[in-house]
Amino acid sequence: MIEASASFVPDPGQSVVVFIEAQHDGGGLASGPGVAMGAGPGGGSGGRDAHLGIRVADPRTPAILVTDQGLTRGDGVFETMTAVPRSDSSDASRTSAPAQAGGYRIRKEESHLERLASSAAALELPIPAAELWRRAARAGLEAFAETNPGADAVVKLVATRGPEPTPGSTTERTSERTSERTSEPMSPSGTYWVLVSPVSPAFAAARERGLKVLLLDRGFDSSVAERAPWLLLGTKSLSYAVNMAALRHAASQGADDVIFFSSDGQILEGPTSTVLLARRVPQRGGPEQGGPQAIELVTPLRNTGILPGTTQGTIFAAAERAGWDLGYGPLETSDLFDADAVWLVSSVRGVAPVTHLDGEALPQDAELTEQLHRFLAEDLEPGEHGPTS
Ligand code: PLP
Repeated sequence: MIEASASFVPDPGQSVVVFIEAQHDGGGLASGPGVAMGAGPGGGSGGRDAHLGIRVADPRTPAILVTDQGLTRGDGVFETMTAVPRSDSSDASRTSAPAQAGGYRIRKEESHLERLASSAAALELPIPAAELWRRAARAGLEAFAETNPGADAVVKLVATRGPEPTPGSTTERTSERTSERTSEPMSPSGTYWVLVSPVSPAFAAARERGLKVLLLDRGFDSSVAERAPWLLLGTKSLSYAVNMAALRHAASQGADDVIFFSSDGQILEGPTSTVLLARRVPQRGGPEQGGPQAIELVTPLRNTGILPGTTQGTIFAAAERAGWDLGYGPLETSDLFDADAVWLVSSVRGVAPVTHLDGEALPQDAELTEQLHRFLAEDLEPGEHGPTS
């Protein structure tokens, strides 16, 4: 059933947005539960009343103030999840996540919500409680499903610090309190929305074709994230202009994507993806003698300022169950060239094999790629391999 506020249904192939916002009298908003902070203690709204509700709307209608700090400073956080139509009754048993969202299952929903909260905590950004994001996503998917039955969807969660405070305003006083680090709970005063959209066919094409990738210097050493937490490395902040510039640079060189390395030579991540590589490790009494062959699946070290990926986490969880050896770097450029296969993985693209690195052809292993697709389809919650563990 569609939430009471679902007055908008998108045209086929179009998107729908669900705002999480303060409930006004007669404003047609669904009433919301309490709110929780992304940062700081407690989960309630304390003395500051912040009753949030959801509103389903047309994303083509102007809605964000020009003073919103998400726009003017990239001051906010986001998550991008995928949702697939629920196919059978066994879905609920696959994951620990709540399985239903308007006939959809949102993949790794809990991991994404936890990472949203931890990114928000890094920015000291108060955000609504997870349950409200879930409700908003469900309402968006229900509206989307009306005109896009059976289609996969991208579900993007965005939280900004909201409009720049005007002198003497409530939000300015909130900002002062944030910077003074008082223990008084803040209520969410930012701008929050969930956008549900169709999946771009470009991602399926990248999976099929594979990716030509350029190695690019990120300009930081691999320990800067720990030394300088204000750089917000490893958080999914809205400040992705640098990542997008790297992708444009790659395109200008005829490449499809990028793998960043640190100034001290560590492999980091793609601008919107996690790096995975596999090595087939000969065993004693190995394949030539009919014995087993071990497969080692490796991703870069996590404390190098990379975003811990939910896709890598869910693949690792399934690979571990299948008896593969898992590793968390450290990785250098030569490891990529020496690997039996390299992939870029993320929630929307899935698993895309890297075919070329800096113009040099890399080995392809269709069997391993197929196996990673199967691991991903198992849809396990990443558990100890998850972003916030
Ligand atoms: N690294 C970065 C910088 C990203 O932006 C993303 C996703 O957009 C990822 C890794 C992959 O994360 P996930 O697998 O959770 O989508």
